[in-house]
Amino acid sequence: MRSVSILGATGSVGESAFDLLMQSGGPARWRVVALTGGRNVARLAQMARALGAELAVIADDTLLPALRDALAGTEIEAAGGAQALIEAADRPADWVLSAIVGAAGLAPGLRVAERGGVLALANKESLVAAGPLLMGTAARTGATILPVDSEHSAIFQCLDRNNIEAVERVTITASGGAFRDWPLERLAHATVAEASCHPNWTMGQRITIDSASMFNKALEVIEAHEFFALPAGRIAVLVHPESIVHAMVSYADGGTLAHLGPPDMRHAIGHALHWPRREPLGLPRLDLAALGSLTFRAPCETRWPALALARQVIASGGAAGAVFNAAKEQALDDFIAGRIRFTDMAPAVDRALAAAAGRAGFGASPDSLAAVLDWDRQARRDAAAVRGVAGQGAA
Ligand code: NAD
Ligand code: MG
Repeated sequence: MRSVSILGATGSVGESAFDLLMQSGGPARWRVVALTGGRNVARLAQMARALGAELAVIADDTLLPALRDALAGTEIEAAGGAQALIEAADRPADWVLSAIVGAAGLAPGLRVAERGGVLALANKESLVAAGPLLMGTAARTGATILPVDSEHSAIFQCLDRNNIEAVERVTITASGGAFRDWPLERLAHATVAEASCHPNWTMGQRITIDSASMFNKALEVIEAHEFFALPAGRIAVLVHPESIVHAMVSYADGGTLAHLGPPDMRHAIGHALHWPRREPLGLPRLDLAALGSLTFRAPCETRWPALALARQVIASGGAAGAVFNAAKEQALDDFIAGRIRFTDMAPAVDRALAAAAGRAGFGASPDSLAAVLDWDRQARRDAAAVRGVAGQGAA
């Protein structure tokens, strides 16, 4: 019986993984070691009961008494807080999905790599903030990291491992998000509600807004650079409104392999769950005749300045990824809270990167979790300081 854990089980990716486990035999087939959630005690307890989990962890430890109540009468162990999340990641399980959103996913994911486990990684932020640390740790311990982000899963599936040196380019597709066709002058007035509507994918609110700004695609370009060790010049972004082709790999002989599928994260999660085998996932099939046509266009860097920032981050290397990720998270918090405009996010991140570039040690990749978190904290302060400037400008 394979054992699995899901970190961030109560989120959008976590729910999809839960669905896959339930419809493929549930507790009769899977030994579920740990499930974690941020604040949603009721859903976490429900999932833990349904899968017969051994441990349930709520990240907000003030909610631990509520979790204990919700699990009363079961043998499921309850725990709370950031340290308990790391301990959940540390528990031996054959497969651990990291589906926590943001830099909070870094420490638990790193722990799985440290113990040489199999880490299915949806949490792209940990590769952006600490790619060399995470990949270096996995190389040292023999841990396996499997991509779960749909584009990276697609690249992984199209890669001809015997001909890596013949890869000319990988192309990551982007739906273009909520504002793909908006007039540019309207973007400054975009509301949080408008940015939270994705044309194709149903996802958590943060990644949905990041899709509208293309910060999600910027994170994914850096993620591809870290995961596949490709230079920025070999990673292209293509707008593809239908979200059917997830990525393509082009080779020196002129051939391009593409991965297609309906926009449903259960494909990428299921691929990682059963890897290296392919098993039926009970999902709807692609019907290309019904779709009729697929369209593509080059991304406009005026509409989506985040894309140029991603290339700048890769060119800088060192601490730039940690700074970029944290500044982006701060700018997103500020946009969601109504403190800055949609179009203030990219300049805020740009200025946090410029501030960091002037600090000692910026050129070296952070080699410990503590070092990553130092850059992260400072970058949030720098991005928040920019908020004051933007606020004055807007007043
Ligand atoms: P979500 O917001 O729906 O869920 C996030 C999960 O993390 C929830 O369980 C939440 O409770 C938990 N969480 C939030 N803050 C936390 C904290 N501080 N400490 C511990 N746990 C915390 O997010 P999502 O859309 O499921 O995305 C999860 C990750 O997967 C993100 O890194 C995202 O970029 C990536 N991803 C998501 C999708 C998608 O379709 N949703 C696709 C590709 C990649
Ligand atoms: Mg993606």
